[in-house]
Amino acid sequence: MNYINEAFETNWIAPLGKNVDSFEKEASGYAGVKYGAALSSGTAAIHMALKAAGIGKGDIVLCSDLTFSASANPIIYEGAVPVFIDSDMKTWNMDPAALRLAFEKYPEAKAVIIVDLYGLSAEYDELLKICRQHNAVVIEDSAEALGSSYKGKKCGSFGDYGILSFNGNKIITTSGGGMLLSDNEERIAKVRFWSTQAREKARHYQHEELGYNYRMSNIVAGIGRGQLEVLDMRVEKKRHIFDLYKKGFEEIKEIEMEPQNENCFSNCWLSCIRISEKSNVSPLDIMEMLEKENIESRPIWKPMHMQPFYSDCDFITDRKSGSNGEDIFRTGVCLPSDTKMSDETQLEIIRLIKNMF
Ligand SMILES: *Cc1c(COP(=O)(O)O)cnc(C)c1O
Repeated sequence: MNYINEAFETNWIAPLGKNVDSFEKEASGYAGVKYGAALSSGTAAIHMALKAAGIGKGDIVLCSDLTFSASANPIIYEGAVPVFIDSDMKTWNMDPAALRLAFEKYPEAKAVIIVDLYGLSAEYDELLKICRQHNAVVIEDSAEALGSSYKGKKCGSFGDYGILSFNGNKIITTSGGGMLLSDNEERIAKVRFWSTQAREKARHYQHEELGYNYRMSNIVAGIGRGQLEVLDMRVEKKRHIFDLYKKGFEEIKEIEMEPQNENCFSNCWLSCIRISEKSNVSPLDIMEMLEKENIESRPIWKPMHMQPFYSDCDFITDRKSGSNGEDIFRTGVCLPSDTKMSDETQLEIIRLIKNMF
């Protein structure tokens, strides 16, 4: 509220002002990246990353398959061609083996969008090596992974561009917003220019490039500055929630928690489980049981290659049949993971689920 009040008191109710500048410095600094451009959404940040990377009509962009559609939609905005890459069971994120296959088939691919799903980082050592070999620009979609790290380095900092989201459902929120991160000062300046309608420096309204109205407002950035101050507390609570589920389901052999690994410190944005296909309880049974108790749960993101909108796009997997993403989608459930949830409430959720087995 202090940051917002300051914006009103100083009369900077616009998509520019002190909060915008400070939020960019503070959020990019947190992620360990030199520069940030505060934008109206994470989706806008992905769109601007593709533009900054020079992606245009007909260009091939390799993209994580198991993700929210916002990771891929900006590829279409630019008239480029998405090719979806299967997940690895170890991280649920882009499978390096499938990425290698994709570059064999599409050596001309110009960019790769790698998602850090549910807060767990992708396997960057391997993925980045493959991308460098093929001179592809890397965009890290870290919308769900602010506060996570891989081998001690913060998520959002692995690609040539990183993107964050401050949508209402993310680990911190500005009610809606996003940020593009990059060490490339010139590209970030260009993104700020495009996202404020590409107005050239002239007394009259002069436009030499296509512009967008994507800039974050100074009020919204004020919310973001306040939220950044509680981010580490949120991460701690999310990890506590994950641990409580993990302990709670320990003796149920048919329930497996989402993967965690020694390379990744996860913000545990969502706690997800997978149900063994041998179990007589299905993910839908669990979701319906919880619904009856007025408890919300969700399926895992439905993979992009299974989406009607993307049905014409190519999909690359290392498997002979089926895909890892499809298996995770079919067997998974996202459990209530709100940081406002009490231990008692969560223990009740655990008890209800355990009772089914
Ligand atoms: C939320 C999300 C986005 C989009 O961010 P918005 O701020 O909602 O536009 C992109 N990718 C992933 C993986 C997300 O979860």
